[in-house]
Amino acid sequence: MKTKSSQSRTNLIRTNIVQASGYIPGEQPTDSITIKLNTNENPYPPSPHAIEAIREVTPEQLRRYPNPNARPFREAAARVHGLPDDWIMTFNGGDELLSVIIRACATESDAVAYFEPSYSLYPVLTDIHGSQKLVLPYQIEGTNWSFPKDIEKTKAALLMIVNPNAPSGHLGSIQDLAHIAENFRGVVLIDEAYVDFAVESALPLVHNHANIIILRTMSKGYSLAGLRFGYAISQPSLLKEIEKVRDSYPCDAVSIAASTAAIQDQEYAQSTWQRVKAERQRLSQALEEMGFSLPRSEANFLLAELPQRAKSADSAQHVYESLKAKHILVRFWDLPVLRDKLRITVGTPEQNNLLLKELESII
Ligand SMILES: *Cc1c(COP(=O)(O)O)cnc(C)c1O
Repeated sequence: MKTKSSQSRTNLIRTNIVQASGYIPGEQPTDSITIKLNTNENPYPPSPHAIEAIREVTPEQLRRYPNPNARPFREAAARVHGLPDDWIMTFNGGDELLSVIIRACATESDAVAYFEPSYSLYPVLTDIHGSQKLVLPYQIEGTNWSFPKDIEKTKAALLMIVNPNAPSGHLGSIQDLAHIAENFRGVVLIDEAYVDFAVESALPLVHNHANIIILRTMSKGYSLAGLRFGYAISQPSLLKEIEKVRDSYPCDAVSIAASTAAIQDQEYAQSTWQRVKAERQRLSQALEEMGFSLPRSEANFLLAELPQRAKSADSAQHVYESLKAKHILVRFWDLPVLRDKLRITVGTPEQNNLLLKELESII
């Protein structure tokens, strides 16, 4: 049987979707021996209370629709952050918030602005929505990263800033973020996916800036990437509008139960953050001793630039492939500013030791 021509099939779908490349998720290893240091998960398991909460989910909870606002979680998160609970809104992963905020803020003639390099999902979502992309390059001098200049003059409906930045771990200052929010005429989304590993959060800025919305996720700090649960923190007036764009029941009963238990167990979560930060320090020192150079990271990963001697003999892509052959996955991007670098998630001490040992023999 003959299928219709590709031309007429293509017309079934909006042109910007057909032209979009789609998000390429981090590799999923197929064998269990792989050390996975490519997608920035917390290397430690989630709070035992979160697992217990999943076991205790009742058939009745599954039969019924979940609470649309994930009420127990909202209340727990509000207590943790010292805010009223209508300053919190939950999403099916932080990624859902990103697509919702673009749909809520930007028309097709508007621009969505973001720094580069940063989260590669931003351009993908902007293309899918059909808005214009406005790329603001980081200022990079050696291992010194800083925010692009004159951001406040940017004409865009929405500005998205990952802070601490991925893939560098660079943390922009709260003063700079406040200055941007004051002068930028649009919504500023501060993506704090990695803030649990950083010295400070921009959270206090929501009080005085009605255009700031903070993204948080349970995927990284709380070791729950296998569930899909994220949340926004902002003034209720902004959240009320965003709620209209969100799915009707974005978070399921199981993820609500587990995330509530996880965020309530601050003591456990913080103990994993301390361990990751200690390892981050040890791993960066060891990499520097091998000749790598790296920006100071306030996240749970490091952006390691190959030593000069290795660069002339080798490429970061080759090092990435050699590590993969040894069952260690890290992240490599074939982009001008990242071509000589690898992004390495901080693992457990044992995982990091194996990584260091293999790197030593490769370069
Ligand atoms: C992980 C991540 C998110 C959110 O991830 P979810 O798993 O969808 O909650 C958002 N931004 C950045 C930069 C991330 O790395």
